[in-house]
Amino acid sequence: MALSKHVHPDRLIQESKDKPSGHAIHTLLGGSPGDYSHAYSGRYGTTSVPKYKIPSTGTDEEHVYRTIHDELSLDGSPLLNLASFVQTYLPEKAEKLVQENAYKNLIDQDEYPMTQVIHTRCVSMLADLWHAPSTHGAIGTATTGSSEAIQLGGLAMKRLWQQRRKEKNLSIHEPGPNIVMGSNAQVALEKFARYFDVECRLVPISKESRYRLDPQKAMQYIDENTIGVFVILGSTYTGHYEPVKEMADLLDEYEKNTGVSIPIHVDAASGGFVAPFASPKLVWDFKIHRVVSINTSGHKFGLSPVGVGWVVWRSKHFLPKDLIFELHYLGSVEYSFSLNFSRPASPIIAQYFMFLHLGFAGYRAVALQDLKNARTLSRALEKSGYYEVLSEIHRPVSPIIEGVKSALRMDEGDVENYVPGLPVVAFRFSEALRTQYPDVDQKWIQTLLRSKGWIVPNYELAPDLSDISILRVVVRETASEVLIERLVTDIIDITESLIKADTPAHALSVLSNSQGHGRRHEIRHGVLDEGSGSTSSGTYAKQC
Ligand SMILES: *Cc1c(COP(=O)(O)O)cnc(C)c1O
Repeated sequence: MALSKHVHPDRLIQESKDKPSGHAIHTLLGGSPGDYSHAYSGRYGTTSVPKYKIPSTGTDEEHVYRTIHDELSLDGSPLLNLASFVQTYLPEKAEKLVQENAYKNLIDQDEYPMTQVIHTRCVSMLADLWHAPSTHGAIGTATTGSSEAIQLGGLAMKRLWQQRRKEKNLSIHEPGPNIVMGSNAQVALEKFARYFDVECRLVPISKESRYRLDPQKAMQYIDENTIGVFVILGSTYTGHYEPVKEMADLLDEYEKNTGVSIPIHVDAASGGFVAPFASPKLVWDFKIHRVVSINTSGHKFGLSPVGVGWVVWRSKHFLPKDLIFELHYLGSVEYSFSLNFSRPASPIIAQYFMFLHLGFAGYRAVALQDLKNARTLSRALEKSGYYEVLSEIHRPVSPIIEGVKSALRMDEGDVENYVPGLPVVAFRFSEALRTQYPDVDQKWIQTLLRSKGWIVPNYELAPDLSDISILRVVVRETASEVLIERLVTDIIDITESLIKADTPAHALSVLSNSQGHGRRHEIRHGVLDEGSGSTSSGTYAKQC
């Protein structure tokens, strides 16, 4: 038999199934291509369930639960998913609250006034944590995540710019607004620019800028139509904090020279819940007058379950009135300034639980432990000789400390002695390994780790540095010391098996250089094909 070029897995399975004697009628018996039956169904009935249309009749809940539960067990384990910043653990009592409040809609402020009070308390707590001039004057809202929060922060800055232009009788269309950010920006930031018609000016990053925004360089992209600068506290690629203070100082100088005042929105998706606890001396937040708004993801280092973010403005003057909707409802007035109308209240309740449960000391303890584990991982990788580490949280804060380290023995347990940043480890093959084994492909580390259950992504750095691929581990609360030790062992084992020329792993590695490999689970229904969208941009000053 000649091998065909491509075997369609769905069809293959269909053709391989038992056929009833009256072959032609098999679809009537539930054997059509989009159906599947389940072992447990023997206990509850024998119908199979269609995959791509709503079944004409229902199935009892036990069977449905089993079916879906088992299907989902094919997902990776969230605990071993070291690619994600999203929290994967919630204390049982918080889970209970989430369940109890699963049916509350945050927008129904009149019906659920206590939920609303809790929401407002959370906003005040964050405003206080981030040193807003007055927690009464600050204003903010929960969002679905940082993505929504960023759209709102950007929109407010766009409106303020429009107001300034209109007051001076200047056009808001020619040449139109622009926003400045590093090319390492998370896609949500670029999305803001594109969705809301703002020219996206990406400042190239480099090794010298430590893979993040270079404030000096950013100044070359700024003009009177710049609505603001997005500064990222915790680059998604390497965990580096961008220098908010330095950016603000340069913008102060710019204002002095030109009279144009350009605000900063800090994207503190991850850092908003790490820096205040681990690096309280770092100046990045509302202490800087130019920082008008800050967003964070509650579901990252805020330790609440997925589905909550926050945006806070330093005062209501920075949230233009026309973005605030007054909802007259049941005889009272409610205010809404988020993109969503209905949304679950339960993640906000969980966030409040975590604030009360952990307190400042608890959040600090978690952040310090995460950073400590990240340092162990970083050092182990570097000491192996196989890897270089691009993140810097394991590096002493100044070369002087590095110098005296051996003589005086710096306190390695004191977080203040290290470069501040997220508990993220970004690493790549060392120069020695790359030179000695040029045919060993780093992306196989990702694949081989996956076979042990670990999810560690291998991806290209931002557009200007796309020739550099990094592996990245996010060290969250659930990545315990034991887990990190295991991970180090597995990474070293895998790396050594890859560079040993006579192993199958090495053969696979060489093979992969000449072949693509795809992942196909089933026919893609309702899913866009590759190439249906436009890629995110990599060029600066591109009209978005
Ligand atoms: C995660 C992240 C976002 C997007 O936040 P979501 O909560 O996933 O919507 C934006 N910016 C940065 C820096 C991030 O790390």
